[in-house]
Amino acid sequence: MKQKLHIFFRRVSSANQDLATQIEFDRPYRELCNKEQIVEVNEDDTSANKLSVAQRPKITEIINLIKEDKVEKVYAYERTRLFRDYYEAQEFCHTCIEHNVEIIYTSSSNGHMGFTGDIFIEGLLNLFGDIEGKNIARRTVEARRKYPPKKYGYVKTKQKTYQKAAKTEPSLTQFFEEIQQIDSLELFNSFLSKYRKVLAKPDDTLIRIATDPFYAGYDLHEGEYQLPHVDPFITKETFLQIQGQLSPLIKAYIANIQKLQELYIDYPKCGYCLKSLRPRFNSDRTEVYFSCSKGHTKVYYDTVSINEATKEVIEKIIAHLNVDRLLVDSSNRMKEIKRMIKKEQEKTEVLLKKAEDSILFSKEGYDQNWCERQDYQEILSLQKDCLLFVDEINKKQQLLIENKQLHQLTVEAIEKQAELNVRALCDLLINDVRLYEQSIEFDVNKCDYIFNLDNEITLHLKESVS
Ligand SMILES: [Zn+2]
Repeated sequence: MKQKLHIFFRRVSSANQDLATQIEFDRPYRELCNKEQIVEVNEDDTSANKLSVAQRPKITEIINLIKEDKVEKVYAYERTRLFRDYYEAQEFCHTCIEHNVEIIYTSSSNGHMGFTGDIFIEGLLNLFGDIEGKNIARRTVEARRKYPPKKYGYVKTKQKTYQKAAKTEPSLTQFFEEIQQIDSLELFNSFLSKYRKVLAKPDDTLIRIATDPFYAGYDLHEGEYQLPHVDPFITKETFLQIQGQLSPLIKAYIANIQKLQELYIDYPKCGYCLKSLRPRFNSDRTEVYFSCSKGHTKVYYDTVSINEATKEVIEKIIAHLNVDRLLVDSSNRMKEIKRMIKKEQEKTEVLLKKAEDSILFSKEGYDQNWCERQDYQEILSLQKDCLLFVDEINKKQQLLIENKQLHQLTVEAIEKQAELNVRALCDLLINDVRLYEQSIEFDVNKCDYIFNLDNEITLHLKESVS
């Protein structure tokens, strides 16, 4: 009978943790095994805390081997290397006990309790592992809230107290005094524009400061913790009063900003240097614009004027679009493509079945390098092919759905005089948009079905200055 396997499992939950320790600790055990019995499994960069067993293929592989009675012992540095989740750990122990597999914790000599083989005691120990894992994550967040490594406006002393930084104290004090008076969006806007300059911070940071109870010397995230190590700028009562006044204003402010940023199309490019442009705010935050002047004449458009131009172009396209023909053509083409892909798919499935059978009925049995065996590799590549076919069909299907959508949107717009769904139509009809000094150029999709119209539509928007 073939000798059973010894699996050496190691895991590092972040790249900088040292795998060497775990290798060093299981070395004495490896030296006791025959070479062909040893399977080493290194799981890199996987946090057992975040991923389930199903998302950790190497663990799944080990479990399968255990269930096939191919394993004698599993080695891990300590319980938490294998699992952080209680239920997963319990299930694993259960499987091991059922299949007579011993678990060795290589750090046992290091004060860690070895595998007991008793499901009840293992349950308790795994429970600690689980709680410990979750606690580490929670404690870190909590500690950072109460003792942040850095906090704007404060100096952290060696005694872990937070003192107001002399440089920013006057302006922050002023900041908290003024913010108490704000009760309208207008005031809020001018407050932000003032402190954007005074504190040299962007709006989201200013809002974060205004809504952070740390400045009142409290942690209010879960319950109420006074932070005696913090020298506060305001009292807790003032803080709460500010939050009450501010929260509807912050909501309105964010809604307004989102509206300004709204664009029917994806971000446009500069027509001269073809750089992808990013939206920017003007100084008083009343406008979002795209601009470029990289060694060429300046391009400048705000979102409102780009949207107007886009709407005009979409209306133009729709008036020239033969959606009925588009739909008939694409449905026919889809049927044809599907038939072709199905044929290929069936061929591949037959090959796959053959390859699987050859492994299943082979006399070679299990060996350490089974992953590298040619027939196994072949199965993998055939499986990949099968997935590609499914993918291909889905993509074509998506295209058909898009054409149907386009048909519907166009018919609605023309026949029912419905409000144009410009954004959806842009997704379907516009490929690329380029901004020039006095014109905007739109690359149009589905050109074969647009009559008497160029593939590129140029809108001249601004009067020539010269
Ligand atoms: Zn440019």
